[in-house]
Order: sequence, then C-alpha cells, then structure tokens
Amino acid sequence: MNIIINAFEVSPFAKTGGLADVTRSLASEFDNLGHNVIVVMPKLKSINVNDFNFKRLDLRLSIQMGFSEEYAAVWEGIIPKSKAKVYLIEHDDYYNRDSIYGSPEEFIDNDRRFIFLSRAVFEVAKAIDFTPDVIHSHDYHTAFTLAFLKSFYRHDLRFSRTAAVYTIHNLSFQGKYNPFRIMDFSSFGMKEFYDGSWFEKDGVVNCMKVGIMFADKITTVSPNYANEIRMAYYSEGLQDVLNQRSGDLVGVLNGVYYPDWNPETDELIKYKYSIDNLEVKRQNKYSFLKSFGLKESDNLDIPLFGMVSRLTEQKGIDIIKEKLDYYIENRNIRFALLGSGQQEYVEFFNYLRWKYPRNAFISIGYDEQLAHRIFAASDFITVPSRFEPCGLTQMYALKYGAIPVVRATGGLLDTVSEYNSSNGLGTGFVFQNYQKEDFAYALERAMSVYYSPDHWNKIRQNAMLEDFSSVRQAEQYIEVFNWAIEKV
Ligand code: ADP
Repeated sequence: MNIIINAFEVSPFAKTGGLADVTRSLASEFDNLGHNVIVVMPKLKSINVNDFNFKRLDLRLSIQMGFSEEYAAVWEGIIPKSKAKVYLIEHDDYYNRDSIYGSPEEFIDNDRRFIFLSRAVFEVAKAIDFTPDVIHSHDYHTAFTLAFLKSFYRHDLRFSRTAAVYTIHNLSFQGKYNPFRIMDFSSFGMKEFYDGSWFEKDGVVNCMKVGIMFADKITTVSPNYANEIRMAYYSEGLQDVLNQRSGDLVGVLNGVYYPDWNPETDELIKYKYSIDNLEVKRQNKYSFLKSFGLKESDNLDIPLFGMVSRLTEQKGIDIIKEKLDYYIENRNIRFALLGSGQQEYVEFFNYLRWKYPRNAFISIGYDEQLAHRIFAASDFITVPSRFEPCGLTQMYALKYGAIPVVRATGGLLDTVSEYNSSNGLGTGFVFQNYQKEDFAYALERAMSVYYSPDHWNKIRQNAMLEDFSSVRQAEQYIEVFNWAIEKV
C-alpha cells in the first residue's frame, strides 16, 4: 500500500507531545510491514538537517494559496531505523521560527502555515511521482489536506482513488479561524462553500470539523476516548459532528515504539535493566536522585513518584497542586517532575522545589533524555488527567517498571488496570472521580503495595509484561485504511 503521513510534528525531528511519537512509530511500522510510506512535514527551525542527513532536492514546488502562487523547496531524508522517506517543506517565512506553533500565544498566521503544508502534500507527491492509496492526516493542522483531496484533486488521476483517513489526537485543540482569511487562502471561497458547510462551526472555520467531515474514516487514539467524545462532557462542542460520523469513527489504541522505549536497550539511561534484573533499576533511581542533590545518607527506599507532562489543566495539575505538598511533608514521598506549560503551574512547582529541596526534583523545560531517566528512576508515574485521549507516558512507565497512578479516563482506562492484592492481577492504581480525595486514596493504595515486597514484586512483573507495541497499532491502521479504500 502507498501511504502518505501528513503531520506538523514527527519524532525525532520535532516534538511537542504524543502526536510526534505516534506519527514516527506509524511511519516506521508501516515500512516494517512492507508498505511504501512517505511523511510530509514542515521544515521547522528546530530540525537540524545535517544531524539527520537530509538532502535538499533539486525541485521547487508551486503551491496555490488563494489567488496567488507561493513556492517551497523540499528536503528528503528518512525516519531513523527505517526506510520510510521524509519530505520537509521549506518555506522560511512560515516555518523558520523559534517555536512550532507560537508561544505563549499561537502565531497569528497559523491558519496560513497549516494550509500551505496541507496543500504542499499533493505537489510533493506529484514531484516525486508517488501515487498514494491513502493520505493519513493527523490533527487539525493538516485536516484541510482531506478537503483538498475531496475537491480540487478529485479529478487528478493520481489522487482520484486515494482514500482520506483522519486521526484525532486531541479534540481540545480544534483550529478555529476567521473564515474571511482561511477560506481565501484555501481557495474554497466564502460564497460557495462556507455557510452551514463542512467548514463552519459556530461562525468560524473549525479545522477539526473539516477533518472529521471530509475523511473516509476517522480514528482516534484509544477505544475509550472514541466513546467518550460522542458525549457532551468530552466532545469539546463537536458532539453532533462526531455522532453524525460515528459509523466511520474507530478507536485505535496508540502503541509504543519499543526500539526507542525499552529499558533493556535504551541509550538514554545509565543502567540498562529488564524484568529479570529489576534491582538494576534502583541504580538508575540513585543516580537520578544524586544528580539532583540527594545526599549519601538519604534513604533510597522512600518511594519516588515521577511525572513527565505538559503543564496544563488537562493533565490534572490542579489535583496534584492540592495534594502533593501534604504527601511530601507527611507521608514521606519524593516527587520528580519534568514539564513545561502554564505559568501558574510552573510557579507552583518552583515553590515546591524551594520548600523541599531534597524531596521535590523539578525540571521545567523540555528534555528527551531526562524524560527517559525519570521513567527508569521512578517507582511510580502519576497521570491524574482530567481527560486523556490516549496518553503515552503511562505505557512507557509500564515498560520501565514504574507503576502508573492514573485517572479512569480515555486511553488511561484502556491501558492500566487496578492492582488487586487478593489475586495478584493488575498493573497500576486507577481512580474514578476528578477529585483530590480520590487521587489521594489511589496514592495510599500505591504506597501500601510499595511497602509490601511480594505485591510490589508482582505488580512490577505484571506491568513490565504488558505489550502495547506499535506493531499492533500499525496493523490495525492498515485494516482501517483498507476500509477507507473500499469506500472511495
Ligand atoms: P500529550 O501528547 O497530550 O502531551 P502524551 O502522553 O500522549 O501526552 O505524550 C507526551 C509525550 O511527550 C511523551 O513522549 C512524553 O515523554 C513527552 N513529554 C512531555 N513533556 C515533556 C518534557 N517536558 N520533556 C520531554 N518529553 C516530554
């Protein structure tokens, strides 16, 4: 099968969250399964083309943006450890900026940046003579690709049999834009296409809706989230749109790309370990804590709760804020955080570090290696999200023998089960209600198992035996692609 993956961020080139991990693992796995896959993404400033051996191709793309034509250069490379080709769309005015989406506010011309990439996909395919069976667009940034496919490119023989698949990674980011601008750049025209159309929602253009409506099949990143988003509480206002397309909406659980996330082979951690020599994990804990100021005399047995996360309301930081102080002070736990995001949360964690310099290890920023070290060092990983489409960190945690403490929402519920000390089944601690008391009770259960060696041993074995491989995820996507192709 010939597949185009079209996304704004792809690991290891550019990443702000799970989207990048998933687009990368899918590209690698499709390639492993014997499919021809290419990835099209912007040439962002943070991508070091030399590190990844990208070569600038001798071609210039011409891309229609409303009434004018704009131009792009193209760089070709591969996804590391695979043969999947990557095409970077170079347009310095749009993409050569210090952040990917704008920070702290979004760039005001994001609509234009996204449309340009969404349309460039077709021009790259033509230029390299690639005829896709499927175009797989990810999140609202590239949703317009599917609208272009079903309109302007429908009569182009190269794309006339191409199926459109759209994956929702997070419904809370929808891309709502001024119709007078975006309908113009995208060449659809206000008059003909806008009012009450597949583009419009509540008086603006809603890119998420565009992806959902134009796709042949829509997926989201876990079966549970696929159910949740059809209800008002989780649908972020798109309940009607999603229910309209519910016959084509499938939940495919995200997978873990184990070549990158495996404590036996992980190049980014100091001491490699497996289920058979878990005592080595303790050396990672010691080395991590020591580099953050642990003293020789300090007790290594105190449980370490880790967290690697964007610091936003979605991730349940409010609940953490309410309880952590108490737990560090009165219940003798340590907490390690790597994250970045909203200022009020950053301030809270800085305060915590100031108050408990030996028990709160706080790192504000983005650091891939430190993330791996935290999974290897921690006894627990906390993911108390208010909502969570899938979540990757709890799956990484399982593989690293760090027991997840999660809220029962979205993909967290699909991947973690409550440990039952009477039959020894279960991989973590799961609380139902988004309330600090429920979270606290889960921490209590976690600690009681931690201090009971037999149970502690058992739960860690259970966790490390879980298999959420991206191979299974890719196979399920191929099935969805086949259904989409049948519809064209
Ligand atoms: P989301 O996509 O909602 O942010 P996920 O759990 O799906 O959440 O994916 C988050 C990904 O980003 C994981 O790979 C996690 O390790 C990584 N990550 C999050 N914050 C940081 C950070 N500050 N530094 C390094 N990696 C991070």
